[in-house]
Amino acid sequence: MRIADYEPIVGKSSLEELRLLAARLSGKIVQNINSTFVGGGVAEILSRMVPLLCQLGVDARWSVIKGTDDFFQVTKKFHNALHGWAEDLTPQDFSVFMEVSQRNLAELKLDGHYVFVHDPQPIVLVEKKKDGNRKWAWRCHIDVSRPDGRVWKFLEPFINAYDAAVFSAPAFSRPLPIRQFLISPSIDPLSDKNKELPQATIDGVLSRFNIPNDKPIITQVSRFDYLKDPVGLIQAFDLVKRSIDARLVLAGGTATDDPESEKVLGEVRDRAAGNPDIHVLLIPPGSDIEINALQRASAVVVQKSIKEGFGLTVSEALWKAKPVVASAVGGIPLQVKNKLTGLLSHGIEGTAYDIRQLLTNPDYARWLGQNGREHVRQNFLITRHVRDYLLLFLSLGQTGDMVYL
Ligand code: UDP
Repeated sequence: MRIADYEPIVGKSSLEELRLLAARLSGKIVQNINSTFVGGGVAEILSRMVPLLCQLGVDARWSVIKGTDDFFQVTKKFHNALHGWAEDLTPQDFSVFMEVSQRNLAELKLDGHYVFVHDPQPIVLVEKKKDGNRKWAWRCHIDVSRPDGRVWKFLEPFINAYDAAVFSAPAFSRPLPIRQFLISPSIDPLSDKNKELPQATIDGVLSRFNIPNDKPIITQVSRFDYLKDPVGLIQAFDLVKRSIDARLVLAGGTATDDPESEKVLGEVRDRAAGNPDIHVLLIPPGSDIEINALQRASAVVVQKSIKEGFGLTVSEALWKAKPVVASAVGGIPLQVKNKLTGLLSHGIEGTAYDIRQLLTNPDYARWLGQNGREHVRQNFLITRHVRDYLLLFLSLGQTGDMVYL
């Protein structure tokens, strides 16, 4: 993948702008820090963003904090609680979080002029801000508009110590005393997950997963997480099946920072047991071609989340011109404009109704998918995202070495 390869997709001038902005950051190190190299949207974005920034001549790096099982149990609770989900948090949970954070503070080597910390897991690292002349930004990928008060109160002093906070959408943010930037996530059209695939590859993946291509395929790709509501989708599928024959594919893996997934996967398997039309696929990290092929093989792609960050899987499906049915949560309404770039569904019956509508109106489904692809081209491709990050770093500047825009 080279920068020039994006030209047919986004045009020459967009790339020229990236080169000009990147040149102003030459010699600067941008250090991204999160909690996992694989699994979930943040790792997905960083794995594409970091090499692309490097190609543009920015010294972008990616470090991961070290956590224990206990720590990730707690951060998962934090994640759910920040989404407004009721969680039973104990004083012990907060001390586990602080102990592991202190260890990372001691061990993690900071080398960035810009330290870009993603999500709450590594948030405490900002305590090192006093040690150097660096700019610190906290990238919040979660919708924190209605968080659990205890977790928010606990995190707030750390957030406020950053130079800036970055949210995916206006509705996700909260009033803060620091500067805020709004930057939507993105997908990479040239990654294995999103690039064009030959039909033979798609067919090969279906046959490897033992999915006959005999009836319309409805797919959701997601970590096995309650908030993605895979069981609710199975219930919606049961309703669809009353009038239309179809297959349901639930494909996902587990993330190293998500301890709940095994349990959810067990429940999904129990619920799907004995139904040959439901395919529950546990896919290992790096199954990008497989996910790409499954999305492309689908008649409808669903994202029936109860809560969502941005919901990258939606853009992934729209980019493939697939008709999407998705709940109106988190960043999904930014991507799915109801009845224009997909359908925003409500509840199990609403999801079933919308899936049926698309399966019985292929022309409408195709029109939605094509609109969706253009919407993603305009708003959610990695080149736009790179530009926004470059502008963010430039506007944060460096004390004593200020960059003026
Ligand atoms: N994904 C993956 N393997 C899986 C499940 C998901 O590679 O088993 C990818 C998916 O294609 C998407 C990202 O992980 O790129 C999930 O991002 P999203 O914003 O949809 O959800 P998150 O997991 O961050 O809540």
